[in-house]
Amino acid sequence: MNNLLLVRYGEIALKGKNRPFFEKKLLRNIQDALQGLEPFEVLFQRGRYFIKINAENLLPAQRKLQRVFGIVSISPVTRSNLDLDEICQNALQLIKDNYVPGMTFKVSTSRANKKFPHPSPEVSSSVGAYLLKSGLNISVDVHHPETIVHIDIREKEAYLYSRVINGLGGLPVGVTGRGLLLLSGGIDSPVAGWLALKRGVEIEALHFHSPPFTGDGALNKVRDLCRTLSSYGRKITLHLAPFTDIQKELRLNCPETMVITLMRRAMFRIAERLAVQRNIPVLYTGESLGQVASQTLENIVAINAVTNIPVLRPLIGFDKEEIINIARKINSYSVSIRPFEDCCTLFVPRHPVTRPQLSELEKAEKNIPLEELIEYCLENIESRTISSSSTGGQDNANE
Ligand code: ATP
Ligand code: MG
Repeated sequence: MNNLLLVRYGEIALKGKNRPFFEKKLLRNIQDALQGLEPFEVLFQRGRYFIKINAENLLPAQRKLQRVFGIVSISPVTRSNLDLDEICQNALQLIKDNYVPGMTFKVSTSRANKKFPHPSPEVSSSVGAYLLKSGLNISVDVHHPETIVHIDIREKEAYLYSRVINGLGGLPVGVTGRGLLLLSGGIDSPVAGWLALKRGVEIEALHFHSPPFTGDGALNKVRDLCRTLSSYGRKITLHLAPFTDIQKELRLNCPETMVITLMRRAMFRIAERLAVQRNIPVLYTGESLGQVASQTLENIVAINAVTNIPVLRPLIGFDKEEIINIARKINSYSVSIRPFEDCCTLFVPRHPVTRPQLSELEKAEKNIPLEELIEYCLENIESRTISSSSTGGQDNANE
């Protein structure tokens, strides 16, 4: 384990008492993300972690860490003995690894180990001079260098690094609490889930399906979306709720134009009860204002009216293009566009109501045994845990 990755995390959110909690969660999430790449060791230093890992696992580890929220940046580190000549040679190798003819650089040294006989400015200038004599086409620019060779003189050895790879930022998953994501097979809700994870919210997912009208293809799609989301966080509990009876009753007994709004109201009622059962304080949806007929302000108000629990809609102000861009970046897009029926694309009215009247909706709901249907749906939810490493058919049914 002679190789190191330096992991930096954001400090802005780390005021006062939250700090140890944040750091503990991040450490745990890093350890989870690196599962399968053992042996590794995570060393903590205020404001950063160093990860010791085998050479062949460096790149896979870096990729995994690029999906861990809370990490601001990552640098591969070269370790060197506390010997100025060896430090110079390692610095030259770093420059060669990033070499572009004509590039500018500077050397920046910090010396925590005051027993090292050369002060920091002397180390920087000696290494700088050595690099300039290497015959490479490089020059020093202390103000705006293209590459910085960082040298960190420590107790037993020196660490050198120059590449800085961006992490995702955000907050470690789990630090802010838990949310229940209403996850369809579409493009939007997985992105909403990702944005929840980004702000440190650990999510469970609830999907309504309508067998036999929606088949295995739709279920596999939702599982794969959970798998993608879980690669940015922890394992995800996916709840599958049978929605066929509710849809049939609504379709048969309520005005066609209201069906979508009524379906959403039923979904929200069930989601709220499940969240309360599971001690989850908020719902998340992929709604975006004005995107489709069921997402007019009036419809959102009518749908929201059935819940007391806060409903967070991280995409409310996003354009479809912006959502698609994120979906592509996080790798959910290719799964979302797989052509399987979602329960809501069945029975879709040609002209859904855009300005529903609350009293009309409530009247329509009296035509069906709503409470009974909701109870049945809740009692027949199937739950399973999905992790990014689990493959089709191997999810763990846990309830
Ligand atoms: P998405 O791409 O997320 O499906 P959408 O633009 O298709 O969104 P709608 O189908 O109107 O929008 O759904 C709005 C929101 O309602 C979704 O983002 C999701 O949070 C929730 N939702 C819709 N269908 C389902 C479902 N079958 N199971 C769980 N939640 C759903
Ligand atoms: Mg949808």
